[in-house]
Amino acid sequence: MSRTLVLNKSFRAVAVADWQRALTLVYMGLAEALDEELTPYDFPAWVEISSNWVEAPGGFVSSTRLRFAVPEVIRLVRYDRIPLREVAFTRHNIFARDKHRCSYCGKKKSTDELDLDHVLPRSRGGPHEWDNVVTSCRPCNLKKADKLPDEAGMPLKVTPAKPRWTLLGCLVPHPRKDIPTSWKKLLSVEA
Ligand SMILES: [Zn+2]
Repeated sequence: MSRTLVLNKSFRAVAVADWQRALTLVYMGLAEALDEELTPYDFPAWVEISSNWVEAPGGFVSSTRLRFAVPEVIRLVRYDRIPLREVAFTRHNIFARDKHRCSYCGKKKSTDELDLDHVLPRSRGGPHEWDNVVTSCRPCNLKKADKLPDEAGMPLKVTPAKPRWTLLGCLVPHPRKDIPTSWKKLLSVEA
């Protein structure tokens, strides 16, 4: 079922929770459910209002007695810090860091047309780490082969580095189209 965006007390997005966890937080009074206008509801109020809804983007929880919506967004009522999270070193996150652009020719490509390139080739001891791995299109990757950018005459257009924490980079492991509409205004989502 669906995921819920978790905001801190200051309405900053801090996490993505599965719906069970989200509802538990609201049930325990640690968070409030927000509707599309960001109107807050405690658990009884949320159950009451959303039980009348015909549709809910996040779906419904149903039991024999109750039926209410899964909130798409909740707000922690006490928590005001923004937890920093390590961005996982994955193919997806490297492409996201480099905005799906080849680091050599600068062309933007879809995920299945991109490869990872080790700036200092692995065959020459290059580490598999954030500052040595860049997004590359297939033709550039083939052309560069086991050379350094200088040797291949292919200067890097970016300086690869470990990204600072980003919510989208580490928590939403899907293309942008999968991000619920209600989240977009709360996240700085690039068009
Ligand atoms: Zn390229």
